[in-house]
Amino acid sequence: MTHQIADAAAPLTVLAEDERIFRESVREFAEAQVRPLVREMDEQAKIPRSLVDRLFDLGVMGVEVPEAFGGSGGRFFHSVLAVEELSRVDPSVGVLVDVQNTLVINALLRWGTDDLRTRYLPRLAAQAVGAYALSEAGSGSDAFALTTRATDAGDDYVLTGRKLWITNANEADIFIVFATVDPAAGYRGITAFVVERGFPGFAVGKKEDKLGIRASSTCELILDDCRVPRANVLGEVGKGYKTAIETLNEGRIGIGAQMIGLARGALDAAIQYTRTRKQFGKAIAEFQAVQHQIARAAVELEAATLTVYNAARLRDAGRPFLTEAAICKIFASEAAERIASLAVNLLGGNGFVKEYPVEKFYRDAKIGQIYEGTSNLQLQTIAKQIIG
Ligand SMILES: Cc1cc2nc3c(=O)[nH]c(=O)nc-3n(C[C@H](O)[C@H](O)[C@H](O)COP(=O)(O)OP(=O)(O)OC[C@H]3O[C@@H](n4cnc5c(N)ncnc54)[C@H](O)[C@@H]3O)c2cc1C
Repeated sequence: MTHQIADAAAPLTVLAEDERIFRESVREFAEAQVRPLVREMDEQAKIPRSLVDRLFDLGVMGVEVPEAFGGSGGRFFHSVLAVEELSRVDPSVGVLVDVQNTLVINALLRWGTDDLRTRYLPRLAAQAVGAYALSEAGSGSDAFALTTRATDAGDDYVLTGRKLWITNANEADIFIVFATVDPAAGYRGITAFVVERGFPGFAVGKKEDKLGIRASSTCELILDDCRVPRANVLGEVGKGYKTAIETLNEGRIGIGAQMIGLARGALDAAIQYTRTRKQFGKAIAEFQAVQHQIARAAVELEAATLTVYNAARLRDAGRPFLTEAAICKIFASEAAERIASLAVNLLGGNGFVKEYPVEKFYRDAKIGQIYEGTSNLQLQTIAKQIIG
């Protein structure tokens, strides 16, 4: 009897050579260039432009931009690795890179005309930060209830309205803005536009004062008769809902990556601390109760990592990943909150003060269950897919 040996698929967590080298370079960068700034950035609620410039130099601001446009010519999985590694040190830097790649560049690559790609991808890969503006005061989970209006004015569209909660708004030069060309048409009126900071009628408004990811800017956008050239319509008029749904499905994997990076950072800090902190004459890591708590966190982190990597690899393989992306986002964000909370507990009093990194991870973890679709909305997506 002959045995057919099937080609074994590579294990999810085994990285290809290029992925391993890329991850290593981002990890080294995060340790050397980001870690020394984490506390100051949190206190000042700002990522310095000099660090943003170094992120461009590293090649993580244009991961999937083709080399011909000055980008790194990587895959979605590389973006996930970059977000994970940066978030291990600072989830605020992680989300800056995440929005740039998984939402803004992704949308332009998939929906942009040749003209839009030629005009914007080289800038996004070299020096321009991007932002993605869907939410409004009255439309969060119900994103397609947005009211920002786009009026056809011949060569231009004129945009009027307010966007809320826009990540990267302070740093960004290029914004993908969703507006409706016809409020009566419901979601079929929604259209995506590429808007530049310098367009007349555009302004960045109030910056939010937040619980976590404080260094990441989150601002209001003000569009007062903002003139946007017709050539800057991204995708088809009235098909912006499709652009939003599809880019956010991918974006969610990026948030999963941010959360597993955060959880890894918190768990590493807790392990390091428990090995050196002595009580009752020994390191607290020697107590079996502590060992089991750490082991349980490692179990959760491993499971979360597998869901994120699986969703990302499905996406790169061109296979359906809607359910898997929602699963990884909800699972990784909930695991990150639990692991960061445990890390605070294991550091005792030191877990509660700013000299140690875990209180920040705990604050930063909360956002994972809110943006790019709350946990309830992820459950709704999963239920719809599996129940019908
Ligand atoms: C720091 C930060 C950064 C952000 N960055 C961006 C960005 O870059 N771009 C952007 O466009 N937006 C951004 N957002 C907005 C974010 O995506 C929304 O806050 C999020 O989608 C939730 O919307 P909401 O705040 O209006 O809450 P709501 O939609 O009002 O939800 C409130 C609660 O009601 C629940 N709920 C609502 N509807 C249902 C339902 N049908 N079934 C069950 N439960 C429901 C929710 O789960 C939640 O618990 C950001 C938000 C924050 C806080």
